[in-house]
Amino acid sequence: MLPRQRLEWVEGWGMAVGAAGYVFRPTTIDGVRRTLAEAAREGVPVVVRGAGRSYGDAALRPESVVLDLSRMDRVLAWDPATGVIDLEPGVTIRRLWRYVLGDGWWPPVVTGTMTPAVGGCLGMNVHGKNNWRRGTFGEHCLELDLVLPTGELRTLDAQADAELFRAVVGSFGQLGVITRARLRLEAVASGRVEVEAVSAPDLETALRLADEAKDDWEYVVGWLDGFTRGRRLGRGLLHFARHLEGGEDPAPAQSLRLEHQDLPDVLLGLVPRSVMWRFMRPLTNRPGMRLLNAGRYLVGSTVGEGARYRQSLAEFNFLLDYVPGWKRVYEPGGLIQHQSFVPAAAAAGVFRRQLELARRRGLPPFLAVLKRHRPDPFLLGHGVDGFSLALDFPVRGRRRRELWALVRELAEPVVEAGGRFYPAKDAALPGDLYRASFRDGQLERFHALKADMDPQHRLRSALADRLLYGEG
Ligand SMILES: Cc1cc2nc3c(=O)[nH]c(=O)nc-3n(C[C@H](O)[C@H](O)[C@H](O)COP(=O)(O)OP(=O)(O)OC[C@H]3O[C@@H](n4cnc5c(N)ncnc54)[C@H](O)[C@@H]3O)c2cc1C
Repeated sequence: MLPRQRLEWVEGWGMAVGAAGYVFRPTTIDGVRRTLAEAAREGVPVVVRGAGRSYGDAALRPESVVLDLSRMDRVLAWDPATGVIDLEPGVTIRRLWRYVLGDGWWPPVVTGTMTPAVGGCLGMNVHGKNNWRRGTFGEHCLELDLVLPTGELRTLDAQADAELFRAVVGSFGQLGVITRARLRLEAVASGRVEVEAVSAPDLETALRLADEAKDDWEYVVGWLDGFTRGRRLGRGLLHFARHLEGGEDPAPAQSLRLEHQDLPDVLLGLVPRSVMWRFMRPLTNRPGMRLLNAGRYLVGSTVGEGARYRQSLAEFNFLLDYVPGWKRVYEPGGLIQHQSFVPAAAAAGVFRRQLELARRRGLPPFLAVLKRHRPDPFLLGHGVDGFSLALDFPVRGRRRRELWALVRELAEPVVEAGGRFYPAKDAALPGDLYRASFRDGQLERFHALKADMDPQHRLRSALADRLLYGEG
């Protein structure tokens, strides 16, 4: 019997799904091995968990051992001459950039929040606003250590063991437990970026502008108004940014200091960031969000049009951390996100259909984010030469079933167009559609590797059961 005192309620970050699990938080590789052995003795599945920032059910599973790696958070080696760093899997992106910035380095791929951990970033193979330019997180990993469910430790080199390496990265913790990652970081001459903001009166313009900007700018990201229809459907604001070159920043030594990067404690000179979400809460309903989206577009497309300004790397990259705890505006039901990746030629048609469907069902997305992507070489990769649209939906008790049904409707045109889905944000995608998005034997190859590396099928998660194994 597993000890009852280890039972905890484990939630997805979006608060919409959760499960009780036996949580183990080892601090060493031996501790990881002991946890795997104990689960095997009891015949219980193991779900690997990083910082728990996946929106849905990626890092949880009922009646399972939760192998939480957040306490394995040491920096093992750092070479400021080459920008190569060895990390335990629980090191967060926040700890990583704060560790290296003073030496003039920055992670080449970061997410919209700095809270995920390195193990989770490799587990999902995350992308940033510069996916077109820099690819995914896994493309900057040189080597990793993997503990198999049997306790065997393997070191995988990104080049020499390319096939296995590319299967493990992005396989949502289903082929082993990553216990060390060696990353190559990116040299930066300044702690600031130059940003340009432009508006797009409709979806087609937003896609065109993002496409035109992709080779000239390091970062390209768009926010779309999900409440619009007809001619205005998909209107939005785009932000492009690039790192400052040597000489452009008058005081690079200063801008690379952490003090320069820290987000202000008080917003608009008045409201402490920590309580900001409480002010947002009364607006988190359909009329309020319609108003907010319209207001944002109005301001951005008039006074903000064509604005050029400089921001710190942290300010630009981690916009979502500005308001700590903002997800609480979605309590009690939480939120889910649907992020689909669609080849460039089909993107306008698919995204238009998705936005129209959501509005017609009375479930418009409260937030919609557009990015430009490139294909990636990973076995279960989600990259395409095209765009992704990430749609945030509040989960309201009464309409939960309708929302889950809407996700199926949103996903169908993606599969028809040869697109992909990003499971890190997922809680509701039907497994048959996820599996149908793979066409070239990738899933068969994954299952063969799974049978070889985890013959007891010890590593599971609610997400993997639904998407990969067709259960749950
Ligand atoms: C506000 C917000 C903004 C976000 N923005 C972005 C974004 O811009 N781009 C993007 O790509 N993602 C984004 N995400 C998603 C997030 O980056 C991913 O879900 C990421 O995987 C979370 O990392 P984590 O450490 O919290 O992992 P978890 O959520 O705990 O786990 C993620 C997956 O990785 C596996 N895993 C974790 N650790 C290991 C390990 N050591 N070995 C093997 N497998 C492991 C788990 O089993 C699970 O399947 C965002 C999330 C939030 C909350």
